[in-house]
Amino acid sequence: MTQDPGTETRSCDVLVIGAGPAGSTVSSMLARKGHHVVVLEKEHHPRFHIGESLLPANLPLLERLGVADEVRAIGQHKPGAEFVSPHHDYTQTFEFADAWDKTMPFAYQVRRADFDEILVRNAQRDGADVHEGCQARSVEFLPDRTVRVHARHDDGREVVWNAKFLADASGRDTFLASRFKIKKRNPNHNSAAVYGHFANARRNVGEAEGNITIFWFDHGWFWFIPLTGGATSVGMVTWPYHMKTRQGRSVQQFLLDNIATCAGLADRLKDASLVSPVEATGNFSYAAERNHGDNYLMLGDAYTFIDPVFSSGVWLAMIGGELGADTIDTCLRNPAQARAALKRFDRQSRHGPKAFSWFIYRVTNPIMRDFFMGPRNIFRVKEALLSTLAGDVYGGAPIGRSMFVFKTMYVIANVLQPRRAFNAWRNRRRNIRPTEEVAQAHPT
Ligand code: FAD
Repeated sequence: MTQDPGTETRSCDVLVIGAGPAGSTVSSMLARKGHHVVVLEKEHHPRFHIGESLLPANLPLLERLGVADEVRAIGQHKPGAEFVSPHHDYTQTFEFADAWDKTMPFAYQVRRADFDEILVRNAQRDGADVHEGCQARSVEFLPDRTVRVHARHDDGREVVWNAKFLADASGRDTFLASRFKIKKRNPNHNSAAVYGHFANARRNVGEAEGNITIFWFDHGWFWFIPLTGGATSVGMVTWPYHMKTRQGRSVQQFLLDNIATCAGLADRLKDASLVSPVEATGNFSYAAERNHGDNYLMLGDAYTFIDPVFSSGVWLAMIGGELGADTIDTCLRNPAQARAALKRFDRQSRHGPKAFSWFIYRVTNPIMRDFFMGPRNIFRVKEALLSTLAGDVYGGAPIGRSMFVFKTMYVIANVLQPRRAFNAWRNRRRNIRPTEEVAQAHPT
């Protein structure tokens, strides 16, 4: 790319694109290790972001980052998750305190504007040089193994950054994966979301007030996430074919019409009113074909996005940021170990999303729904399931054998109910069709 003579050129050790949870975490950790870290964030914090429910496994990392007290001050205490099915006349609540590892009994629901700002200011305090209102626009990988990124500030100023290493934490913009053309739609999953904040939603009482509630309905599921300050985040996650039925309706009307079809949620919202614009995100799942090269890593949503039903996104982004910092540090200080470090990063980056995906692909299956609604603790399977729901998927608790038993029980339940299992499989294949195929099948 040719460079305008007026363009400023600057250097750093590590350039981070994006100051969401992944970018701020990797920046804090690298700056603490003594690297010169520059972060480019195209927006200005505080800024709205969806993804408000955290997992218990995230809390020790918040401690390591030194922000646990700040997050506690803005967070709604979340001791568990409640599931509500239209086919059962009771609700099922999972308390994180009952998980295998009893040391992580709760998490938080957070407004991401506040949460992400805590993380980015922490990165600045740790020594990262953060440029807000500055968008990375193109990248070149040079023969001398450095990386050159062209960026533009809000005021039109252009800057070229030369770095030894690039961390792409650009979220669903997938800065590198899009440029490399290696972003692939997940053939096993496909969904979209419509969401907004409500005042006066009826919450659970007492300790359970901050629980996330998942309501299944005919076309997917809803989240109900109580936030501090009285607002409750409500979102519908549904299949592409159902989004097509919106036709002339506004996204707000579409959300309200669908809430009305879900009796349990409609009841909780009967005195509530919207206090935010309603937004929609095509949240089809994807992954990049690779997550690293010799001098770059992809972190969080910049690498892969899985369905948000288990509130795993922020945790995966932040643990990816921490693993990424260790990997980049090794690559820069100890090149002889770089290959092994990158391999470990690759393995760990794939492992977390895979652990959640097994459940995500099955969570709308009626047989799995029965398992969730009537969990039993044979061979400690309920504790293991809870550990997974808490995000404890990186070998903290020894849940492998119990999860194997759980999955085997699920397979046996399918074999014993072949008609139900077949219908569920057929419905799922139909539901996850990409939107173009839906349009061909149902021209409007
Ligand atoms: P992001 O948080 O998206 O941060 C990326 C940052 O990069 C942004 O600030 C962006 O402005 C910046 N950026 C992008 N491109 C550039 C560029 N070229 N130059 C400079 N800056 C750039 N997760 C949960 O844990 N719990 C939930 O309840 C949950 N619910 C969700 C519901 C929905 C509908 C969706 C879509 C997601 C949900 N998630 C949830 C997932 C969660 O939001 C993400 O996984 C998480 O935000 C990923 O963090 P990140 O740092 O990778 O990316």
